[in-house]
Amino acid sequence: MDISSSFHDPALCRALLDRLTLEIEELGRPVRFMEVCGTHTVSIFRSGLRSLLPEGLEHLSGPGCPVCVTHDSEVDVFIRAAEKPDVIVTTFGDLLRVPGPDGRSLKHAMAEGARVQVVYSPLDAVKIAAEHPNDTVVFPSVGFETTAPVFAGALMTARKMGLSNFCIIPCNKLVPPAMRALLSGEGGTAGKVDAFLLPGHVAVVLGLAPFAFLAEEFGRPAVVGGFEPADILSALCLMIEMLRRGKPEVRNTYTRAVSREGSPQARRIMDMVFRVTDARWRGLGNIPDSGLALREEWKQYDALERLGLALGESGHIPGCRCGDILRGALTPDKCPLFGRTCTPQNPTGPCMVSTEGSCAAWYRYRGV
Ligand code: SF4
Repeated sequence: MDISSSFHDPALCRALLDRLTLEIEELGRPVRFMEVCGTHTVSIFRSGLRSLLPEGLEHLSGPGCPVCVTHDSEVDVFIRAAEKPDVIVTTFGDLLRVPGPDGRSLKHAMAEGARVQVVYSPLDAVKIAAEHPNDTVVFPSVGFETTAPVFAGALMTARKMGLSNFCIIPCNKLVPPAMRALLSGEGGTAGKVDAFLLPGHVAVVLGLAPFAFLAEEFGRPAVVGGFEPADILSALCLMIEMLRRGKPEVRNTYTRAVSREGSPQARRIMDMVFRVTDARWRGLGNIPDSGLALREEWKQYDALERLGLALGESGHIPGCRCGDILRGALTPDKCPLFGRTCTPQNPTGPCMVSTEGSCAAWYRYRGV
């Protein structure tokens, strides 16, 4: 049996579900776990796991969808950049329909004549810059620790090619400070989450150490998990076992991809180009040391400086509860717009726009 199919094996999943049910029964109290990764969100819904979880185990999605956590003031500045003359904004497709504070998106700007091109990687954007020497090519650098080294590599390539017309809007965010903010914040989710399913992709880069505070300071077990059904179930079993034993730790069940020390090489590339700074998160506000800005020696690639732009005031999409969804304070079905005026075909907020958003996953895989 090949390794990927073994993680879908119904007999293995059934056995893990039975073990999970036993663990919950032995623990003797309800548990809420949160995942902080859009891929986990989709995987849990698509595989049907959510509906199979034993009674007493509740699943919450946190701020793990990179497009969803992008602040509306950041989306606004992407649109303002696209509206400048002689500028081409290049972007991943899922950012195209995300609304800014006034409800407009890059797609609206495009319809009004702005030059926006969808690309599959930052290197495609570098190529566009090489082909359009008289234009400034801007890439909104959105994502977590997983994509930051890729953006850093694209800037290094642009510098090597002598391209001075390629730049980025640095909006990358760091996951561990957001988790700290969630647990430290008053009200919201602070007391609601018993344990965390940690993001496998981010952990490939970071390793386990940056998550240690979850167990050491907040007493929450946390397990790095893969994305197949058996991966997720194994991580949940370990998580509940740690709760039952009263010994919270940060552990890794995704050992075929994640090592304890992560990828020092990816972190080194990231550190060469970026420095840590404060960042605005949708739903969580300004979080200290949770974002990445360009280092002084890379400032010439900062699109905001080059185009004379700055983040403005934030707004609010009327009726949209994405902020509450991203804190795990509300499930999508409790949003009054869910499935009525807000659908994947006609999304109101980013959590319905992105394929990794909780609202989109809830809509697609639970039916309305
Ligand atoms: S259902 Fe739509 S309007 Fe409601 S929180 Fe989700 S994205 Fe926002």
